[in-house]
Amino acid sequence: MNTRVCPASADSLSLAARLLADGALVAFPTETVYGLGANALDADAVLSIFAAKGRPADNPLIVHIHDTAQLEGLCEIPPMARPLMDAFWPGPLTILMPRTPRIPDCVTASLPTVAVRMPSHPVARDLLKACNLPIAAPSANRSGKPSPTTAQHVLEDMQGRIPLILDGGPCEVGLESTVIDICHGTPVILRPGGITKAQLESVLGTVDLAPSILRPLGKNEVALSPGMRYRHYAPEGAITLVTGSEEEVLQALPRLYRQAVADGKTACVLCFHEHMEALRACHPHDLGSRLAPQETAHRLFDVLRELDAEHMDCIYSEVLPPEGVGLAVMNRLGRAAAFHTLAAKDAGKGADKA
Ligand code: AMP
Ligand code: MG
Repeated sequence: MNTRVCPASADSLSLAARLLADGALVAFPTETVYGLGANALDADAVLSIFAAKGRPADNPLIVHIHDTAQLEGLCEIPPMARPLMDAFWPGPLTILMPRTPRIPDCVTASLPTVAVRMPSHPVARDLLKACNLPIAAPSANRSGKPSPTTAQHVLEDMQGRIPLILDGGPCEVGLESTVIDICHGTPVILRPGGITKAQLESVLGTVDLAPSILRPLGKNEVALSPGMRYRHYAPEGAITLVTGSEEEVLQALPRLYRQAVADGKTACVLCFHEHMEALRACHPHDLGSRLAPQETAHRLFDVLRELDAEHMDCIYSEVLPPEGVGLAVMNRLGRAAAFHTLAAKDAGKGADKA
């Protein structure tokens, strides 16, 4: 199959809407990451998303809408949903709601709830309006790869697998939506994202965090969100998170880098913009300003893809405080690192003795 990449225009949007209505897949930009869309009411079309991504069938999809009137007949609307929709839609918040039988089982992995979001990206909105269908759309990457934040990333993963990619430039947020469960008592954030815990609490009062956001799932632990079971966002190399004071980390990173290179490995560091100069001998990759976690969110997946393009073996990374958008960054970076963490104080000290 030939995969076309088209800038969003009246013509490409009507082509995309026709393809979706015919049961084909279309990749499109949203403010979070690029999505791989199919008509959510067409089970065969939805199954082809799983095939194109290599996604496990037990990992449910998010349904995208452009108007809350589309919820009619798809799900029940719990009392907490309305204030959330008023405050954060359109935007990067996905809300779980009890579903009706009209949604095919393959969309929700047979769970009793469906995840719904109204994106704010103008191209996503125009597409959703043009086709006027609920669109099931996970991130448009092959499973296990970082989510795509540019049309080029989508092409790398989906060339030959889908007919059309709408190009809307780089995604603004750069990380996937916040997923919140409001169906069982106190609301729970299942996946942190661009809408922060504090923002949600300003509307709902107390909001809990799913326990495995900053650590691996335990052996017999049940994932509240099936996606958490999988090793996502995994580059080919091994990422190590290096923690400690700014001074300790700036001393440890060159030691760790030199040790890896001495061991014959390809190595690099991921560091904040302010440290690029101090770490210039360590093949640094820029995570954006340490004072602006949204910059790190915006760049993270692009940086993770670069690591694979460069075939890095050992990657040593600075960390952010897990607060606000920093929580979403540390959830993705932590999972990319399989939560492998070293204290900077003593890390790599053997390197300089040798
Ligand atoms: P993606 O589409 O790749 O952004 O992933 C969607 C995320 O939402 C995954 O982590 C899913 O596990 C989660 N999700 C979707 N539907 C549900 C649901 N009904 N219950 C719990 N988590 C869900
Ligand atoms: Mg995904």
